[in-house]
Amino acid sequence: MDQKFAKAKERMLRWDLKGRDIVDPRVLEVMVEVPREEFVPSTHRSQAYHDGPLPIGRDQTISQPYIVALMTQELRINPDCEVLEIGTGSGYQTAVLSKLAKKVYTVERFSDLADSSQAVLDRLEFRNIEYYVGDGSCGWPTNRLPPSGCFDRIMITAALPEIPEPVVKQLARDGLIIAPIGGAGVQELVVCEKKANRLMERTICDVRFVKLIGKYGFDQ
Ligand code: SAH
Repeated sequence: MDQKFAKAKERMLRWDLKGRDIVDPRVLEVMVEVPREEFVPSTHRSQAYHDGPLPIGRDQTISQPYIVALMTQELRINPDCEVLEIGTGSGYQTAVLSKLAKKVYTVERFSDLADSSQAVLDRLEFRNIEYYVGDGSCGWPTNRLPPSGCFDRIMITAALPEIPEPVVKQLARDGLIIAPIGGAGVQELVVCEKKANRLMERTICDVRFVKLIGKYGFDQ
């Protein structure tokens, strides 16, 4: 580990994660393992473990570490899970998911963000990830779905008015999906479990995410 960041990482673990409600040992472990400093722009590297989001260009942000950990914990990922992530951004959340899941399928709308996140993840040797550039509000391209034809877990990391029907369709039975649902300012972080083709919904807390721009998201 880069010693420069050891103290900041320790502070994050103790106060921002364990000090709140992150209790899953695997999630805590992975939050320590993944070098967040590699995913933030060089201009903000010294603040990599800061308790908040940071800009990553294109008016987008890398999410606050606590929110990454909370969303990951809520998804209860196991090593057999095929996970869809909508909104690759910096690739940091992708890395966290990749350590816990069998495979991660991640979609980003901006090709430059997709390219730079893939470059970092390749350099750090994260191998169980498939990338796609496009409108994730329509789900993953149907001709590239995993063999089962659906995902065990889905994480949406940008705000949208409701969970899009094509995305719900790609969630396995008994699968979990987490997303910030609401308007452009503040949203509710919602976890849904798919039961016999209907979603059982639970609200976690209020959050602020950038908008998901797309057919089933916001216009601009
Ligand atoms: N998990 C990321 C969060 C990035 S912010 C991180 O921690 O770095 C949300 C991301 O969603 C942005 O990169 C944005 O460009 C992307 N996004 C917005 N609308 C999208 C869409 N329709 N499909 C795919 N990605 C989208």
